[in-house]
Amino acid sequence: MKRMFEFACESGHKIERYVIYEMKTVQCECGGQAHRTLQAPAFRLEGWSGSFPSSYGRFEKSHMDKLKAERKLL
Ligand SMILES: [Zn+2]
Repeated sequence: MKRMFEFACESGHKIERYVIYEMKTVQCECGGQAHRTLQAPAFRLEGWSGSFPSSYGRFEKSHMDKLKAERKLL
C-alpha cells in the first residue's frame, strides 16, 4: 500500500514522496539520501503552519467526539 510520507534529507531538505510503507529511504533532488520521518503529514502541516496548538486542540476535540460516538455504539 502506498501513501504520503515525509522524508528528511541528510542535507536538511524536507520532501514528501508517495511510496510504499517499506520504503524507508529515498533519493532527494539534491542527490542525497533522505530518511523517512515518523511524523504523519497532517501533523506536519499543522505544526509547520504556526497554528499548531489550536489545530491540535481541534483535532483532539474531534477525536474525543469520535470516541464518545463510538462508546455510544457499544
Ligand atoms: Zn536534499
